Parts: sequence; C-alpha cells; structure tokens
Amino acid sequence: MKTIKLTNVTKIYHNEIVALKNINLTINNKEPIAIIGPSGSGKTTLAKIIAQVLDYTEGTLLFDDELPNQDYLKSGKIAYIDESARLFPHLTIFDNIAYPLKLQGISFKEINRRVLEVASLFDISILLTRKPKQISKGQQQLAILAKMWIKYPSLIVLDEPFQGIDGKKKADVKKLLSKLLDTYSGIFVIVTHDINDALMLSKKIVFLNDGAIIDILKIEEIFKSTNPEIKKLVLGDVK
Ligand code: ADP
Ligand code: MG
Repeated sequence: MKTIKLTNVTKIYHNEIVALKNINLTINNKEPIAIIGPSGSGKTTLAKIIAQVLDYTEGTLLFDDELPNQDYLKSGKIAYIDESARLFPHLTIFDNIAYPLKLQGISFKEINRRVLEVASLFDISILLTRKPKQISKGQQQLAILAKMWIKYPSLIVLDEPFQGIDGKKKADVKKLLSKLLDTYSGIFVIVTHDINDALMLSKKIVFLNDGAIIDILKIEEIFKSTNPEIKKLVLGDVK
C-alpha cells in the first residue's frame, strides 16, 4: 500500500460525542507519521479509523485511491496494536507470535522459520518457550511487536505502544523499532503523547486537539512553529 487518504472524516459517537471533526490527512508509505495530542483529543479514534477497526460517521477514507475492500481487511496486511494489547497468557511466546500465521493456515515449517526469524530480529529468541508472565513488561512488548511484524503488514498502526515500560527498556524497544522502520516500505502510524517518541519514530507529526488537526508538520519544521498550541505539545509531555 502506498497511500491512505482521509477526506473530511468526522466521527460522532452515539449521535452526540464529536470525537473527530473534518479530518483531512494523506499518509504515504516510507513516511512514518506520529499522531500527538492531549488525552481525549481523538488520537485513538483516529488510529482505529485508519486501521479499519472503527467506522467513521462522515467523509471518506481511501487505501490507494479506493475504498478498502473486505478481502484486503481479512488478508492480515493491517497490523493494529491498541492501547491495551496483551499476549495470550496461556500460550508460550512462540505460540503467541505464531498465532496470526496459524490463523492464515500457513504450514508449520514456514511458521517455525518465520517465528525464529522475527524472534531474532526482536532479540527475544531465548524467551520463546516461556509464558508471558515469565518475562518482563518490556519483553512482552517486544513479543507483541514481533507478533505484528510476522504478518509482513503493509499498514502498521500503534496506539501508545510504550505504556508501562520504564526508561532503559523503552529506549531499547524504540531503538529497535526505529531500525526496522529504516527499511520498512509500508505505511506506519504511531499514536503517542510523548514528543520524543514522535521525533524518533516519525518523519511527520499530526497535531490533534479537541478532535481537529491543528497542523501537520515535518520533523524539521516543528521547532519553528509559532502556534502556541503546538509549542505546548512540543515542550511539555502532555498527558
Ligand atoms: P485520545 O486517544 O486522544 O485520548 P479518544 O479517541 O480515546 O482520545 O477519545 C476522543 C473523544 O471521544 C473523547 O471525548 C472520548 O471520551 C470520546 N470517546 C472515545 N471512545 C468513545 C466511545 N466508545 N463512546 C463514546 N465516546 C467515546
Ligand atoms: Mg487514546
């Protein structure tokens, strides 16, 4: 996939709560974007709409200039990790990572090869026989990302993926993700409230407030912005 285009996308929950207003946004492949904004600004709603797990109320959303079709949605090419993504507690890390491929009916030999490949990439090879509760939060997050990567997705949407991971481990996970992004040719969207995540993992930042886009800026432009709302988001770690 090369582009996702949202035109005048509006989301109203239960006929009364306006979560997004007239969102116009084009996302290109090889140009990772970050969505940043305070709590309640509509980040998760926008992420879900892009990942096609939530319907919008008005407007249009196109994948490569066409309405996304059901075959595509079922193909496993979209990887969406929500705010509270968890591993299956009763499965080993190996079986957790293998899960999306098992659903696709891929042969055991191929699954085995790919699990070992991504486990090595995410530096969790020695953890494959363990269960989630036998590894740290940061290692669990690496396993969640490995489970996403194994599908070879052409669209990745991550919603606040570093919550609950502390300093050093968070830095390690971010570094790994950043390295993978260097060669990733699909579309990547990360939601965060931390400007440092956005600086490291995106080329363009969408600033959201109260359901509307304040501005969309390239990384090199953000420190030049004179918009006070953007300055606040850039300087403070908004919660
Ligand atoms: P963020 O991720 O930036 O915190 P959300 O997208 O979760 O923002 O929420 C945007 C707005 O929509 C908020 O006012 C929130 O209360 C509301 N909202 C989110 N999900 C629902 C829902 N399922 N039903 C009703 N209102 C919702
Ligand atoms: Mg959210």
